[in-house]
Amino acid sequence: MKYDYLIVGAGLFGSIFAYEANKKGYKCLVIDKRNHIGGNIYTEKIEGIQVHKYGAHIFHTSNKRVWEYIQQFAEFNRFTNSPIAKYKDEIYNMPFNMNTFNKLWGVVTPQEAQEKINEQIKESGIMKPKNLEEQAISLVGKDIYEKLIKGYTQKQWGKPCNELPSFIIKRLPVRFTYDNNYFNDLYQGIPIGGYTQIIEKMLDGIDVQLNCNFFDRKEDYISMAKKVVFTGMIDQYYDYCFGELEYRSLKFETEILELNNYQGNAVVNYNEYEIPFTRIIEHKHFEFGIQPKTIITKEYPATWKKGDEPYYPMNDEKNNKLYAKYKELADKEENIIFGGRLGMYKYFDMHNVIEEALQTCIKEFGENDD
Ligand code: FAD
Repeated sequence: MKYDYLIVGAGLFGSIFAYEANKKGYKCLVIDKRNHIGGNIYTEKIEGIQVHKYGAHIFHTSNKRVWEYIQQFAEFNRFTNSPIAKYKDEIYNMPFNMNTFNKLWGVVTPQEAQEKINEQIKESGIMKPKNLEEQAISLVGKDIYEKLIKGYTQKQWGKPCNELPSFIIKRLPVRFTYDNNYFNDLYQGIPIGGYTQIIEKMLDGIDVQLNCNFFDRKEDYISMAKKVVFTGMIDQYYDYCFGELEYRSLKFETEILELNNYQGNAVVNYNEYEIPFTRIIEHKHFEFGIQPKTIITKEYPATWKKGDEPYYPMNDEKNNKLYAKYKELADKEENIIFGGRLGMYKYFDMHNVIEEALQTCIKEFGENDD
């Protein structure tokens, strides 16, 4: 056997594993079916702008170890995610905070805002929400629901809110400060020069083969290494023997525009149902770019069918139960490790993937002494 590890997937999980294994002196082969490394965090420089090819990626964590780990591979800027929401011709700050409430109702103090929300919740008279619409109104009142939740959620799920189950929204973060920072984490930023350089550094000196689908030569690939790290879809690995897991997908539409500033913010959500996309990303603002042109990406929610890009695992009860069956098989494997958002069927942010990958490395190689 030529390799110690065959790593399927050159995304964040696979690349961290390869980097750590290589450091310990193990020989790795990384394969990916795409024509580039990086998985969904891949960025590409176009017109001098780092374009997030698979949607906006903002790094955030409260875990100091994770923050220090990722900074070995890139310097991060001070970007803070402060998306805005557009409803008709009105602009609102997100997440719902005092700026949002001031714009909605002219209230100035947290007490006034709280009273307004309480008043609307009381007026609704909803005691036991029967669907998502009632759940949202019972949490934040009708104004926020109508302008900032209804259309967006309906587009995201492809169904009216009164036909969606209430459990989709467990809580709605409401902030009674004038703070537009979307995340509550201690650390946040964007790698200066994009994410792809991070993966390039991780995979430096490691054999990588692109445009290679594991399933085209499964047995061959398995025979090349002592162990396999698999970051593709776990149900596909087992040939869907218990049935298919479900995902949500997205479609991206990217344009280069002959102007230097299109929307004045990296992320603008479009909350009206009549506009078919859910948000527009203007990539240059992630790095405070001053290039003469700009690049925008419209993001459209899409239902997933086999063969489409599986962006978000649907971690509802039905799918989690099905995943548990696959996990039982996976736990019995001695020479295969399943990792990442598709291998573990879980919506992971980047910091979660780093935590999971480092945990897997500790299990495999022992504690790091450096
Ligand atoms: P992936 O990046 O999916 O890598 C898996 C790789 O395996 C892929 O390259 C794939 O091509 C390859 N592969 C799969 N099957 C095979 C096969 N059969 N043969 C060969 N190769 C195969 N996280 C944040 O922290 N902040 C954000 O702002 C953020 N925004 C996001 C926005 C969107 C639209 C999406 C979809 C995700 C976002 N994330 C964000 C999450 C982030 O993308 C993931 O945490 C991370 O990319 C997961 O890494 P991974 O290695 O597990 O999976």
